[in-house]
Amino acid sequence: MDMAKRIQDLTVELTNILGVVGSPEENDVVDYVFNWFMELDYFKENPDNLKFIDVIDDAAGRKSVVATINGKKGNDKKTLVFIGHTDTVGISDYGDMKEFATKPFELTHKLKEVTLSKEAKEDLESGNYLFGRGIFDMKFGVAALMVMMEEFSKKVDELEGNLIFAAVCDEEGNSGGMLSVVPELVKLKKEKGYDYLAVVDTDYSAPRYVGDETRYIYVGTVGKLMPSFYVTGKETHVGEPYKGLDPNQIASEITREFNLNMEYCDIADGEVSLPPITLRQQDLKTEYSVQIARNSYVYFNYATHNSTPDQVMDKMIKGATKAFNNVVNDLNMQYEKYTKENDYPFERLPWEARVISYNQLLENVKAERGDELERRIQELSTELLKDKNVDERIFALKMVEMVHNMWSDKDPVVIAYFSPPYYPHIFVKGEDDREKKLMDAVNKAINNAGDEYKIVNKKFYPYISDLSYAAAPREEKAVESLKENMPGFGVRYSLPLNEMQELNLPVVNIGPFGKDAHKFTERLEMGYSFGVLPQILLDTVDELMK
Ligand SMILES: [Zn+2]
Repeated sequence: MDMAKRIQDLTVELTNILGVVGSPEENDVVDYVFNWFMELDYFKENPDNLKFIDVIDDAAGRKSVVATINGKKGNDKKTLVFIGHTDTVGISDYGDMKEFATKPFELTHKLKEVTLSKEAKEDLESGNYLFGRGIFDMKFGVAALMVMMEEFSKKVDELEGNLIFAAVCDEEGNSGGMLSVVPELVKLKKEKGYDYLAVVDTDYSAPRYVGDETRYIYVGTVGKLMPSFYVTGKETHVGEPYKGLDPNQIASEITREFNLNMEYCDIADGEVSLPPITLRQQDLKTEYSVQIARNSYVYFNYATHNSTPDQVMDKMIKGATKAFNNVVNDLNMQYEKYTKENDYPFERLPWEARVISYNQLLENVKAERGDELERRIQELSTELLKDKNVDERIFALKMVEMVHNMWSDKDPVVIAYFSPPYYPHIFVKGEDDREKKLMDAVNKAINNAGDEYKIVNKKFYPYISDLSYAAAPREEKAVESLKENMPGFGVRYSLPLNEMQELNLPVVNIGPFGKDAHKFTERLEMGYSFGVLPQILLDTVDELMK
């Protein structure tokens, strides 16, 4: 049976198994993958090369599978790592068609009965697409990697080096799968002396604009930070508004400064990252009264191509200071008008723009309260960890709030900090041999693919993914800034930063073409995905292992 057909059958079979992120059923997919590999002769003969890796401290008991093929030609230590995630997002978006979400062929018929966008309707009628939850993101990718591994398992005598495939869970959630596999890879490197070349992912690759027919392969990936601001104003009665400083106004001006502002985009190799956008903005007043709020907070999604956490923190402090100054100037201008029209004496308002980092706040409070600070942080951590409703973002906020409350300085101030999660970008510049080799291999594979499709090689996989965890910034200051300014780091939210730094691998995403990931019209285009992409994948691997 040819490869395209085998990948298609396996894609449909994997799609049939529902494994929604966060649910214990994620293991159904993982178990299927494990058993499928166990049926192959190679793994029957080498059962130790197939194992489960448990997610660390996971309430749902989830796990990933790691399958290793050791080539027998020569005794080469070079090793390629493949990752594919086995989970999907939920299926509530299918509404009444929910039961068909995992049945691509039946779903295709059902979709004819409902209203669709013009593009989705055309794709449905074309017969070139398979619909289904996860089929594009990324059951196809997992199937393609499994079939590729099977191919190599049949000819280990000709394989120089090793192939490791990690089928990881929880990618759509907190990356619990990848984050437990990273330390395993470091362990294998030490035990077996593996010399890792790169990490290859086969996650989805969608059009970048309406009507975009280009097929993209990405060497490298985008990163993400969550700049957060805790704002303290000055409370007042609404009857004396100029005696107070409204934290909502400062937070709004911070939003105006950062939101979708192209000045905060990273440009690397001509590729521009997405601008920041708020994911939450609210004040922290709990009741109605005619007193204005004292505190508010706002946090942003912030994509990176080359800025490290310390550099983003600098931009956060500069941007928030500018915003704060705007508010102070505007208030003075309004107050001057107000006093003039009422014939009252005008005196400049006492507010000064002040923005400090969380780390600076810690230092200020520590200077005043000494060891009590650490004790209070631990007490609050213990308390917050017990509460299931406190997510990583709320944990960070409560910590900033408590530390700020301990400070004797009660004047208006903005505290800049990071909320979890953090995904490092990986910028493959082609500066070292490993990076050059990867870029060359991908270029050659694309050239071999012919010209039926326009295939373009770009630098940053634009959809936040597990690829980010194949490396971490190695400049001391960069990671330090993240740890110092992310309240609860190492307690409520952790990353194996040392292991990520140790791996330090270039990455590539060689993904299928399709549309509408995370929508009920999620669909996989078949011509390129089954017919061309598997060969690009194989050629890339061949070239790298040569
Ligand atoms: Zn995905």
